[in-house]
Amino acid sequence: MEEELKKIEAYAKENHVPIMEEEGITFLTNYIKEHDIKTILEIGTAIGYSAIKMALVDPEIQVTTIERDETRYEEAIQNINTFKLHDRIELIYSDAFDVVLNKKYDMIFIDAAKAQYQKFFEKFKENLNEHGYIISDNLNFHGLTHTLDRIESKNLRSLVRKINDYVSFLENNEEFETIFYQVGDGVGVSKRKDG
Ligand code: SAH
Ligand code: MG
Repeated sequence: MEEELKKIEAYAKENHVPIMEEEGITFLTNYIKEHDIKTILEIGTAIGYSAIKMALVDPEIQVTTIERDETRYEEAIQNINTFKLHDRIELIYSDAFDVVLNKKYDMIFIDAAKAQYQKFFEKFKENLNEHGYIISDNLNFHGLTHTLDRIESKNLRSLVRKINDYVSFLENNEEFETIFYQVGDGVGVSKRKDG
């Protein structure tokens, strides 16, 4: 199993698939263990790496994960089959904004297009259990969020500004409180203030 995971990590590196960094995924899987999380919704499957890692935490865990890129979705199916996790990981091939889910989850993990984090958060908080957690990855965006003025590319600057706006949105949120962890590429954990 370790060897298969290493293969996925190597594939991701070679093909520039932005899977979670080691420190971040370790934080995430520990969090799932410590908070007895059993149902997870992930936005942004890529090739299934984090979904597999999360499902492997406990045999009772069920993951639903959404991916809009066809090639990555196909890769994810294969990887999930390798781990025989197809009965515990449900893959949805779609843009997350077109998906309607009626279920509620213990955790929602946002790891997709960074410019749209706030929209993901607002849409999918409706699918969060009362005492659930919304986890957002890449809030430091490779350290760039602190160097906004020095970024020359207009597109990159605009993206970094959006991430910073999302952090402000979380900091000033009336309904949710967020703790920011400086692990991996920066992880935020949000929960309802009365939850
Ligand atoms: N969670 C994965 C990495 C995800 S990378 C891991 O750690 O293993 C981000 C992925 O989100 C990309 O594959 C991208 O295609 C997908 N994505 C971005 N915006 C999306 C959207 N609106 N709906 C569905 N998938 C999206
Ligand atoms: Mg990420």
